[in-house]
Amino acid sequence: MTPEHGDPEDGDLVEAAPECEIPAEVGEAVRTLIRWAGDDPDREGLLDTPRRVAKAWREYARGYAEDPSAHLTRTFDEVGGYDEIVLLKDIPFQSHCEHHMAPIIGKASIAYLPRDRVVGISKLARVLHGFARRLQVQERLTAQVADTIWEHLQPKGVAVIIEATHACMTARGVNTPGVMMTTSRMMGTFREDERSRREVLALMGY
Ligand SMILES: [Zn+2]
Repeated sequence: MTPEHGDPEDGDLVEAAPECEIPAEVGEAVRTLIRWAGDDPDREGLLDTPRRVAKAWREYARGYAEDPSAHLTRTFDEVGGYDEIVLLKDIPFQSHCEHHMAPIIGKASIAYLPRDRVVGISKLARVLHGFARRLQVQERLTAQVADTIWEHLQPKGVAVIIEATHACMTARGVNTPGVMMTTSRMMGTFREDERSRREVLALMGY
């Protein structure tokens, strides 16, 4: 599976975009880009490309249509006294960099230390995808995921680590395939307490 042609249901909890009308100017913009790239948009193989690209972008940018924090409104306070780390590890995601609109492909590990409530575990992934399906920079994506969990669950600690490759770096520019960028945000206990931080990092595999 290549990132650009990945199944939208590639285990990342993102539903396929509904069929929608493609505005004429969007199709024309793609045709212009094809011409700019040096090809002929009227060539048979490219005739349907503007529609496909427009549809794909509806999906890549689905996050704009949602409020990711909404996934955290349904919480459970019956946790049987559980007061240890909750971790969702190596969640695959894709995003697009806001500088080149090129794919960012990576994985995120998201952990929190509950105070009095927890959420369904898939919700953490939904928060990630809600922010990832926008034009992004990895640093902001990391901060938005952590801040949203911090604000809405009011846990004792939040830790988010994202590792990703940026196509704008691997496929153009400095052309360095395989290079990973890592960003992290530690809040509360994970920021203040060395032992807690080491514990969550070890659980995440760092
Ligand atoms: Zn870029």
